[in-house]
Amino acid sequence: MDIRALLERLQHSVSGDTAWGYMAEICSRDRWSSFDKYRESADYCADALLSLGVDDANAVPFPADGRTKFGDWMMPMSWDVREATLEIVAPSSTILAQWSELPDSLVMWSAPTPSGGTKAEVIVLKEGTTLEVESLDVRGKVVFTPEHPTRIKSVVSRKGGVGIVSDWLRAKDKPDAVQWINTWSDSPGGWAMHAHDSRIWGFSISPRKGALLRKLASEGDVELKATVSTKLYEGELCYTTGSISGETYPDEEVILMAHIAEQGANDNASGAAALIESARVLRKLISSGELPPPKRTIRFLMMPESYGPMAFAVRNIEKLRNALAVINVDGGAGDYDSDDSALGIYVNPLCCRSFVDAAIAGVARTFYEEVKNRPDKWAVHKYTLAGDNFFCEPLIGAPHTWLEMGDGGDYWHNSEDTPDKVDPRSLADLSAVTAGCAYFLASSGKGELARFAQRTMETFPDETKQILSMAMPQLRQGEGRRPKRKFIGALTLDGVPPETWKVIKSSPRWWNSYLAAWWWADGKHTIQQISQLLEAEFGKAPDDLDEFFDFLSGLGYLLRE
Ligand SMILES: [Zn+2]
Repeated sequence: MDIRALLERLQHSVSGDTAWGYMAEICSRDRWSSFDKYRESADYCADALLSLGVDDANAVPFPADGRTKFGDWMMPMSWDVREATLEIVAPSSTILAQWSELPDSLVMWSAPTPSGGTKAEVIVLKEGTTLEVESLDVRGKVVFTPEHPTRIKSVVSRKGGVGIVSDWLRAKDKPDAVQWINTWSDSPGGWAMHAHDSRIWGFSISPRKGALLRKLASEGDVELKATVSTKLYEGELCYTTGSISGETYPDEEVILMAHIAEQGANDNASGAAALIESARVLRKLISSGELPPPKRTIRFLMMPESYGPMAFAVRNIEKLRNALAVINVDGGAGDYDSDDSALGIYVNPLCCRSFVDAAIAGVARTFYEEVKNRPDKWAVHKYTLAGDNFFCEPLIGAPHTWLEMGDGGDYWHNSEDTPDKVDPRSLADLSAVTAGCAYFLASSGKGELARFAQRTMETFPDETKQILSMAMPQLRQGEGRRPKRKFIGALTLDGVPPETWKVIKSSPRWWNSYLAAWWWADGKHTIQQISQLLEAEFGKAPDDLDEFFDFLSGLGYLLRE
């Protein structure tokens, strides 16, 4: 296949403005962070795919009841918001936060107040640590913290605090931005709220409003009033999926995925928009006969981060085991003239070496260096887990590459990640590369792909080559237990009481050596070999892997050895 010709054709066919329109539509629903709106967003994506002629496009529900588990992931409680306000009522009267004006001001899964609201005195934390809360009498008070509010949620609830206010913002020098708080678990490193988690409300306010509140509190008592009208319930979330059927190997899929159900225009309405735009141009070029139909099926998948792919993976494991490649598009399409629109390609981890990474890098290289003449706008990085790109783990085994065009930078997860921060030019490039990778992978023979990967590898700089060619170490042979896990996906310890945890201090749902050790626990590797594999990937391995697997075995997470 002439990749350059394919990419030139796609570059002419994609429209940054059309893609921008999809992004704005998704964002207008997801920005509310309310599950009724997430449903609308999933339906919007399904309708968009359907209207473009994508087969079987639909929004498939899965439980969001705070109990059901897919793998080790306990699904979130459903949560709808009607309105929420936080105001200072004494010594003066000022509105600090209002959900209908700025949805990010309400911490997700905030519990409702009585309908007339709750009035309480504020207590100001200096450090925002659990230790500090332990040392104070917060009963009946609103706790105001300079740190992430979830850090102190369980202790504030346990000690009878009525709510938490935070002016923590990851970005610096954005006095009016409000951080979106999308974790409300009582467990260390936890994420979504579950049925067994404590129920309390929280507000996120801007650094400027935080400074005002801190000043007033330093001068005397401050009384706040919170009125929160929300509903926590056992409902559903959806993953939206549809496909363009392959002519020769319809069961061998190339999957494009992007998470939705987050407030940001860059993270990640833009990723989902790039998928829909890819679907639009591929369908159009195939229908008009400009491109032959792909040999393999190209699937589109849009869903809430991590939870959605877990539900999809458990239900579609055989489909995934048969997939040629999965591409996760997550992380924005920022200002074309800034670094935030350079494309990062995060390759697979050591447990999933595949020619797919080099093939995708080769497509990106051809696009940026030959079609766009912008060799500065792409780079290859080592694996890290963005939440969704876990189908590469050995019990699934589908190569899963992550395309990230910036994460919104200073706008990441705050109220300023709005549609005006998405650049149609970046979004057009992202769509062209995404469609190009999908079509090339879906339409070429495996031999052709491997040869292309090999050929293109020779043209990469040494650093890129090194990342793409990380080699398996020579494993020491020996006897010993070969742990085999029961679940696919990342380890979370959701629902396991933190006081019973051993070895682990924080939920190992993100990429680190314990999660990698969990993934290597496929029944084929001894603990000593797992240690060697971790050393090869991370430079060193934890020395308590035996205790780690004892702990997991005690939880019933491993099959009988
Ligand atoms: Zn994201």
